[in-house]
Amino acid sequence: MIYLDYAATTPVNDAVLKTFSEVTKKFIGNPNSLHKLGIESKELIEASTKQLASLLGVKEKEVIYTSGATESNNTAIIGVAHKYSNRGKHIITTRLEHSSVTATMAYLQDNGYEIDFVDLDDHGLVTIENLEKLIRDDTILVSIGAVNSEIGIIQPIDKIGKYLKNNKKIIFHSDITQAIGKIKINLEDIDLASFSAQKIYGLKGIGCLIKKDHINIEPLIHGGKSTTVYRSGTPATSLIASISKALRLVLEDFNEKYQYVSDLSKYLKNQLETIQEVHLNSNEYCSPYIINISIKNIKSEVMLHALEQENIYISTQTACSTSSTSIAVLALTKNNDYASHSLRISLSHLTTKEEIDIFIEKFKNKLQELNLVHESN
Ligand code: PMP
Repeated sequence: MIYLDYAATTPVNDAVLKTFSEVTKKFIGNPNSLHKLGIESKELIEASTKQLASLLGVKEKEVIYTSGATESNNTAIIGVAHKYSNRGKHIITTRLEHSSVTATMAYLQDNGYEIDFVDLDDHGLVTIENLEKLIRDDTILVSIGAVNSEIGIIQPIDKIGKYLKNNKKIIFHSDITQAIGKIKINLEDIDLASFSAQKIYGLKGIGCLIKKDHINIEPLIHGGKSTTVYRSGTPATSLIASISKALRLVLEDFNEKYQYVSDLSKYLKNQLETIQEVHLNSNEYCSPYIINISIKNIKSEVMLHALEQENIYISTQTACSTSSTSIAVLALTKNNDYASHSLRISLSHLTTKEEIDIFIEKFKNKLQELNLVHESN
């Protein structure tokens, strides 16, 4: 099998799974229970949170555990909207966000909020000038993802965060799901940040929302005691221990992994550029972990399934999108053809050059076969 869909999800790291399994068996107490078993679970959660917070450079009390980035994005965006609606109902975002951000924005729009999308420059980047044009007295939130999940465009999050810091009334949220563990990210000027364990070789079903101390949000989920008041429910001790471990492990040898994937990504892009029918949508401002292409005349799904027959796995857009046209590719290229024929190949430090070579060979063969079918139609 050649798996090139790491942006959709990653295989779990064996050591992370071991932690999950051991903690599940050994720490049976509800962390809210007052007895010894409860206290042991609580202490393990505290130690895991301490590690996770220190790896991210945030305070322990700024960590909110959720079921994943989808819930983190919903909690952040709706939480701010509800908390600060007396201050204003204007929110700014981009056309490059994951559906868990855009669908949440659509929900708020249906409920009386006004949503504006920042114009992107020719490279797909948000500029301070374009952002500034949209800011109003009633703007309460700006939500801009650090790395787009389809094309991999890296936004200048540091610059945006620093700029927004001057405006104390505006809260800055960033979905860092495709950035964490892959590109360097500084949370200093980000008020709220979302991510999922399943993209960093952790388990599905746990994520985090980092909420800076000075920011207030209205919780989405009410009920029993948890690690914070912002997301109720019995804390998932083993999942919490596993996300902390996943983060520690993904950040190990960070520079070496980044360099390795950058070289592999360049190699793959060079190969793809030699194929006449291929248009490279990812540009020099993109994460090396994501390569987005469009292929002339061939539907992306057709190519995806053709490669699947060879046990090679890639994506059309993101696994979570519902439309057949990529909004992100359209926003970047302004070309409907590219947007309706796009494919995403996503890499990992686990990807080998041999896998890339086989992928290229099979891809070219499939292209030829499918072109013959297309021409005969
Ligand atoms: N944001 C981004 C940028 C993503 O890529 C994803 C996963 N495709 C999510 C949010 C949602 O993550 P989850 O499905 O783990 O909630």
